[in-house]
Amino acid sequence: GFECGIVGLPNVGKSTLFNALLSTMQAEAANYPFCTIEPNVGRVAVPDERLPLLAKIASSAKQIPTQLEFVDIAGLVRGASKGEGKGNEFLSHIRTVDAILYVLRCFEDSDIVHVEGSVDPLRDAEVIETELMLADLDSLEKRLPAAQKKAKGGDKTAAEQIAMMERAIKVLQDGKPATAVNPRDKAERKLLDGLQLLTSKPVMFVCNVEEQFAATGNSLSAKVEAMAAGRNASCVVVSAKIEAEISILPSEEEKKEFLSSLGLAETGLAKVVKAGYQLLDLITYFTVGPKETRAWTIQSGTLAPQAAGVIHSDFEAGFIRAETVSYGDYTQYDGEAGAKKAGRFRLEGKEYVVQDGDVLHFRFGP
Ligand code: GDP
Repeated sequence: GFECGIVGLPNVGKSTLFNALLSTMQAEAANYPFCTIEPNVGRVAVPDERLPLLAKIASSAKQIPTQLEFVDIAGLVRGASKGEGKGNEFLSHIRTVDAILYVLRCFEDSDIVHVEGSVDPLRDAEVIETELMLADLDSLEKRLPAAQKKAKGGDKTAAEQIAMMERAIKVLQDGKPATAVNPRDKAERKLLDGLQLLTSKPVMFVCNVEEQFAATGNSLSAKVEAMAAGRNASCVVVSAKIEAEISILPSEEEKKEFLSSLGLAETGLAKVVKAGYQLLDLITYFTVGPKETRAWTIQSGTLAPQAAGVIHSDFEAGFIRAETVSYGDYTQYDGEAGAKKAGRFRLEGKEYVVQDGDVLHFRFGP
């Protein structure tokens, strides 16, 4: 699965948001409850209005949304890269996530202490990012000698790795995140990803604002939005307090009413999940049948056999073909039979790039 790590300084509303995220999505995906893998890891349903429509056409007994994983990575403070706080533990957790979500405090409240002494989301983002950049520099400098030794022994891959490591070190020394390496092609991208740097991961900023600014944002979140726009990161405004209140409302109707009374079209959490999906360049395909209609997540550009592998490794290994109907055709022609009659049913092979919304049925052999 795909994983987003949640980071932020203490007292910015991280836990409030994370806990609300889990209980809201649990309620919204009643027949596929979120599960807490570890206390700090949660799987949440990706909201998708196509799922109930497909399930209705196919008269499915169950609907199963696809999910994203969120990891609450606690303990980041200034000095974490040098082992301050729970620094090292923090950094090892964050190394494996696919994207990083920064929670930034954009609310004023004199009762809630700020570890840096004042409310300033741009400085907070910089404090966190600096720690991540220092940790990246440190890990690259530690790994460089071993790679150099390999390269001397004639290892061509190691030589390529070293070139990429040196580029990353230069960028980091300039005070920029490893994303600023700007890989020129797929091969370079792969080399950079292979270094598993913290600051080469896609970033989303989540501005936690006071309740009355949930719909509009405030002057602090506007600054974060401007900064995010300047560097190709995504930015979402939420009120962790509102999310916490919504998460304990018992019914969908009450949640909807509460949201609209605040001038909100959807929960901040739905915004976060959708933005995370976009940030990771993910798309959804569906499997549809009488037992269940289910959504599956893949990265855009994935070929049919690898898409099948998300369901089961046997599907990938023994892949023969994918019976394919697009979402548009499936809904327009009222299901597979109708789509077949209309000539909109396709048999796709190993080279097929799965498209967002495809309804797939995999044929596979031993
Ligand atoms: P964490 O340390 O980042 O996990 O922060 P918490 O979620 O524990 O929140 C720290 C404190 O800030 C708690 O007392 C929250 O109730 C409070 N808090 C969180 N979000 C908001 C907000 O939007 N406005 C105000 N006034 N307080 C908030």
